[in-house]
Amino acid sequence: MAHVQPLDAPRPPGAVSGWGMSLFQAGWPCRCVEARTDTVNYPGVIPKADWRTAVKLPESLDFLRIKEARYRPLPLRPIWPGFAINTVFYAAILWLLMFGVFTTRSLIRRKRGHCIKCSYDLRGAEHEACPECGVEVS
Ligand SMILES: [Zn+2]
Repeated sequence: MAHVQPLDAPRPPGAVSGWGMSLFQAGWPCRCVEARTDTVNYPGVIPKADWRTAVKLPESLDFLRIKEARYRPLPLRPIWPGFAINTVFYAAILWLLMFGVFTTRSLIRRKRGHCIKCSYDLRGAEHEACPECGVEVS
């Protein structure tokens, strides 16, 4: 079994490497969450990462045989400008998906001279309301 060096342990005599910090950011299209870590990396000792703003994946995922699995973070600290931009970006996509289809269909029906609600053909006669569904014709 490998030895894991605790973060607050004194540096072993003769150790040449030591402490480091890693920054892990995620998000698309803008980076919107991050995690920082302090890392101990002495020769002959497995590096131990202390993620301060993330949830570390459980060691039960070791069966995946991903060497870095125990040190892969799920970042939790928001990066507010990126978070706001991503929120607006995904809200716009959702809005287009929800309302874009209906708006486009209504525009096409109006252009063809049909009722915007039921697509009844209103050409050739003066109507104040659709005779099929009762929607006002403008
Ligand atoms: Zn109609």
